[in-house]
Amino acid sequence: MQQSIQSIPLLLQVALIIICADFVLYWEHRVYHEVSWLWPVHAVHHSVENLDWLAGSRGHFIQVFSERAMVMVPLYLLGADETALNIYVTFAALQAILIHCNLSFSFGPLKHIFVTPQFHHWHHSSEKPAIDTNYSAHTVLFDRLFDTHHMPNNLWPADYGTTVKLPTSYVGQTLYPLTALFKKK
Ligand SMILES: [Zn+2]
Ligand SMILES: [Zn+2]
Repeated sequence: MQQSIQSIPLLLQVALIIICADFVLYWEHRVYHEVSWLWPVHAVHHSVENLDWLAGSRGHFIQVFSERAMVMVPLYLLGADETALNIYVTFAALQAILIHCNLSFSFGPLKHIFVTPQFHHWHHSSEKPAIDTNYSAHTVLFDRLFDTHHMPNNLWPADYGTTVKLPTSYVGQTLYPLTALFKKK
């Protein structure tokens, strides 16, 4: 299988990697939102109340490690060309910065294919209809397919963050998955 994947044109390999990674990331992200004891881990990423390009770098280390492992191990085993993997990693890193940017630009028809700032800003909204929507990382395909797509025409959210406030310190946020668990019991 690795040989047949390496024999397809480079750009098609990149497209295949993006779709495979997007599928894994969609479900990993959705599970972090919808399984109550996992949510506090991901809530650290959502604790940002003013979204800008740096917001994508805020995440609990458990999520960062699990996400990278869940995406990169299957992609490595898929056996795509190293150049294709490098193009994907660069694309993913730049897109992660872009979608958190404070850019009120809609990206025209591209917003029907790729995850854009407007799409991911709605994911960070604390407004009711937007909660638990827009899980995809790269394309809007799986949110469309699994009916979690939310992007009201030309509108942007007014409020960001979590409905339950998190501690603001680094240590407080690192320990939050544990403290939230004990609070519940
Ligand atoms: Zn999320
Ligand atoms: Zn985000």
